[in-house]
Amino acid sequence: AGARVPFPARAVVDLAAIARNVGVLGERAGSAGVMAVVKADAYGHGLVPSARAALAGGASWLGVAQLTEAIRLREAGVSAPVLCWLHAPGAGFGEAITQDIDLGVSATWMLDEVAAAARVARRTARVQLKADTGLGRNGAYVFPTGPEGSTSSDWSELVDLARRLEAEEAVRVTGLFTHFAYADAPHHPTVLAQQEAFADAVALAERAGLRPEVRHMSNSAATLTTPEAAWDLVRPGLAVYGLTPAPEVGSSEDFGLVPAMTAIAHASVVKRVRAGQGVSYGHTYTTTGPTTLVDVPLGYADGIPRHASGKAEVFVGGQRASIAGRVCMDQFVIDVGDLSVAAGDEIVLFGPGTRGEPTAQDWAEAVGTINYEIVTRFGPRVPREYV
Ligand code: PLP
Repeated sequence: AGARVPFPARAVVDLAAIARNVGVLGERAGSAGVMAVVKADAYGHGLVPSARAALAGGASWLGVAQLTEAIRLREAGVSAPVLCWLHAPGAGFGEAITQDIDLGVSATWMLDEVAAAARVARRTARVQLKADTGLGRNGAYVFPTGPEGSTSSDWSELVDLARRLEAEEAVRVTGLFTHFAYADAPHHPTVLAQQEAFADAVALAERAGLRPEVRHMSNSAATLTTPEAAWDLVRPGLAVYGLTPAPEVGSSEDFGLVPAMTAIAHASVVKRVRAGQGVSYGHTYTTTGPTTLVDVPLGYADGIPRHASGKAEVFVGGQRASIAGRVCMDQFVIDVGDLSVAAGDEIVLFGPGTRGEPTAQDWAEAVGTINYEIVTRFGPRVPREYV
């Protein structure tokens, strides 16, 4: 509220690209629907505008990790089905239940807490049971089928409890889901093994009498490479924002996706310096000749990796320039040589790559991380601007 104070940097988010990317994913998914994953502030792109764009692009569900994210969507008036899957004991599920949020449930204690909150709210909670079919993270463990064909496991305990709670109308199981460990390597043996384990887990639940409306397992990588795993819904996150989850398998362009975020800063101080000038803390970079240094008002407090020093490039005045010296808390320096740059000039950190600027994928490769981390780490001092 109040006067708009200009920010020195911003992340421009192309909402039409998000909508189109969802369309591309929907085509890959065939007859399955799309649950667009908008957790972590829509991977840094802004929760509510991105969620609305994804719905406009054809998503029929939204997925988030935390209850606060799900409730923020409802408070913004988003009425589409929302699944929320990560909880700690004592979460207090009452508000989520009254707001018709589907609760992903990975353990019997979680289901007991959901049922207790449902009784207090005098409502039937919508729950989706999450199976661990081999990721070894959250989800109720499905033991690999043994020689006797046994699937006795945490999963069968969770299914049995769900049946008992359905009988007293405390909960209704609306879905069953799981998550891949290796979908970015489509030929990895776990990809098929997890599909088989999920089919077993679904069969066990349905034999026990559960009637889920949606069964789903495919993240972005599986949506793009393993269409036979689509079941009733696919559940992509990263690809919604136009980034590739499997750069070895295909680029964004190969998959028909358009990166939605362009990160832009404006040159602050521009100065000519002599040869042999050390730059930034610890002088890890020294100029080799007379040159122009440009101070860029973004730092590790904003999500620029500190070890991007000397590795990542930005785009200024129609060409690439490297980060010179250490990235500081609020700023970093680039050496632009003899290029003419003025205070206020636009410096593009990354974008879709169509103008010659680096992409989030280029940044990830330069600093030894994944593109997910590059876009999600932009902090609150970098406003999102929607186009
Ligand atoms: N489903 C679950 C349970 C997740 O935790 C995530 C993200 O990590 C996704 C789907 C989306 O994954 P991706 O961004 O790789 O498509």
